[in-house]
Amino acid sequence: MANVDLSELKAAGASAYTPGRVHSLESMGTVDGPGIRFVVFCQGCPMRCAYCHNPDTWEVNAGETVTVEQIMHAFESNRAFYKNGGITVTGGEPLLQPEFVADLFGAAHAAPAGRVHTCLDSCGYAYAPDHPERFDRLLSETDLVLLDIKHADAEGHKRLTGRSPERILAFGDELARRNIKVVIRHVVVPGITDTVEECEKLGQLVAPWRNVVGLEMLPYHTLGVVKYEKLGIPYPLEGVPQMDKARMPELRAAVMRAMKEARAQS
Ligand code: SF4
Repeated sequence: MANVDLSELKAAGASAYTPGRVHSLESMGTVDGPGIRFVVFCQGCPMRCAYCHNPDTWEVNAGETVTVEQIMHAFESNRAFYKNGGITVTGGEPLLQPEFVADLFGAAHAAPAGRVHTCLDSCGYAYAPDHPERFDRLLSETDLVLLDIKHADAEGHKRLTGRSPERILAFGDELARRNIKVVIRHVVVPGITDTVEECEKLGQLVAPWRNVVGLEMLPYHTLGVVKYEKLGIPYPLEGVPQMDKARMPELRAAVMRAMKEARAQS
């Protein structure tokens, strides 16, 4: 993975698009969508996940402003690298800036050198079920969504993230309605989301979404702790050990089994 030095981006001229507020850019992402990807980390997040390893992306008014043209220029300079990949927008939370992401994805799809695959990595919380039209353009330009479901239980979700899951589930419903491909992501934390029961609940929760094409179960790690120390914020999961990777196949199987059973019954 390689960070792009924002000061080395092509000078920002007049832009035909909505600018974005970003935390950082990465030119060689390998974990956020298929292939090698140019990754845009948006600034700002309304959630407060206890295990968040990017607390420096939370503040909405921080970060740098970049234009769609600057990002596309940086992408096109290395287009050959991305032939099996594309552009991913993650965060922070990209749904806080739907116009910017819609413009970027639209430019990626219309790129003169050829259509670029677009991927949105989102927690879904900034979706507004009462105003789906705000997300219409963005979703019509999105090829794949990596949707984080933090906890299958509503109360557990609130404890883990500080927020209720309703909007996230409404976002999942909207993606299913539009038949946009979705990969579900779920961080497995010892003592919080590592029971077979929780994993079965997750399977039941996502079973109605027939557009789900993948499941990524991510073992909790403590690599983000150092950022909390730097920012002077107490780390909410102090003392929680890293997830034992040996248990992941069993828990993944529990999600898949419950999803299959729920679908068979519906
Ligand atoms: S949604 Fe992502 S960026 Fe936001 S607090 Fe949770 S882990 Fe951090």
